[in-house]
Amino acid sequence: MKEFDTIIIGGGLSGSSTALNLSKKGYSVCIIEKEAFGNIKPCAGGMASSMKKFLPLNIDQAIESKIRNVEFRWKACDKVIADLSGESPFWIIRREKLDQLLLDEALKYGSKIVRPVQIEKITSQNKTWIIRCSNKDVFKSKFLVIADGSQSKWAGYFKLGPRKPKFANTIALRLKGLGNIPKDSVRFEFGFVKYGFAWAFPMKDSVNIGLGTFINNKLLEDQDLNNKVIKSFGFEDLSFQLVHKRLRIWNGMHKLNGDRVIAVGDAASLCDPFLAEGIRPSLISSYYAAESIDQYLSSNKNDLNHYSRSINNEWGKSMEWGKRIAQIFYRFPKTGYQLGVKRKTAPKRIAQILSGQMSYEDIAKRVIKRLLTKSDA
Ligand SMILES: Cc1cc2nc3c(=O)[nH]c(=O)nc-3n(C[C@H](O)[C@H](O)[C@H](O)COP(=O)(O)OP(=O)(O)OC[C@H]3O[C@@H](n4cnc5c(N)ncnc54)[C@H](O)[C@@H]3O)c2cc1C
Repeated sequence: MKEFDTIIIGGGLSGSSTALNLSKKGYSVCIIEKEAFGNIKPCAGGMASSMKKFLPLNIDQAIESKIRNVEFRWKACDKVIADLSGESPFWIIRREKLDQLLLDEALKYGSKIVRPVQIEKITSQNKTWIIRCSNKDVFKSKFLVIADGSQSKWAGYFKLGPRKPKFANTIALRLKGLGNIPKDSVRFEFGFVKYGFAWAFPMKDSVNIGLGTFINNKLLEDQDLNNKVIKSFGFEDLSFQLVHKRLRIWNGMHKLNGDRVIAVGDAASLCDPFLAEGIRPSLISSYYAAESIDQYLSSNKNDLNHYSRSINNEWGKSMEWGKRIAQIFYRFPKTGYQLGVKRKTAPKRIAQILSGQMSYEDIAKRVIKRLLTKSDA
């Protein structure tokens, strides 16, 4: 039987970055991953460069594009462009590369990974987790980190996050060439996808395209419409392979830790319910998960409650507004586009959200203040 300080279930972005944060602090870590190889993740790779502060390594190799402006369109017309001022605050990264860099660095610092392995049973005895796998391997650890992504089995088992998770339906594809997307610009396309939007994020020699629908569990099965959207990005050859994914999105403030167990990333339902941003909360939650476990092991703290509080404060407050904005925007998208995106100050604000300089909470407070000032007048 092998013993570790922490066992992490899932070796994706959140699992690998938690492993790196913990192993850099000197703790023994083992990742249990169910897939044989790092499979390609359906992820467009958009990331605020400010997230560098949560990344304990250099990720230059994974950066494909540095974005200078963000373009919004309504049914391929009516464009609005937001300039991202300053030191390129938004990057497109190659997700599989980022995951690999994090994992390799974690292994360099002594983390272990076992794959492909299916966990059969998890029990607790005398403050120790006992993890039994289908290949008869048995692992022991003081802490458990649940990082098994949107289809998480274990977050529900430990009652972490929302009891009834909410999902966005997405499809993703990567096309060779850049179509009509400039190499330093991302495009958000509204109006075609019901209750959602489409996006095109450029890499060096290809574009990550996605369509997502965020409320009412609307499906994306209209192939003609999907093709029309993809054509609007300047691609004519439509012989591509689509990946469908149900993405767990933020659905209220919830406890994300139990006794010696923590959920991170998509397993903790942290993904932005308006724009599907999941890299940022994955990195933030991995960072705080490692901090909380460190505090437990190195001081007299005997719970991990600090973790849930930090995530709910740092991310949840903004997402609560993000959820409200999504509910209104995607129900009345045309009005939302006219009043939200086409407003004079909107491009700047949207750029600030994408780059992490502003939260949905800040935006909502500004709108409320404006309405109150108007009604006073
Ligand atoms: C189409 C699409 C586009 C996106 N684009 C962006 C974007 O541009 N920017 C952005 O910020 N976010 C984006 N996201 C969201 C982002 O991809 C996710 O939030 C991110 O992948 C979450 O990482 P994770 O490690 O929590 O989960 P994952 O990356 O899904 O990793 C989970 C890991 O756990 C493993 N696993 C699952 N079950 C088990 C089990 N029972 N036992 C062991 N291992 C298990 C899986 O094999 C996997 O390796 C996008 C998502 C989608 C679907």
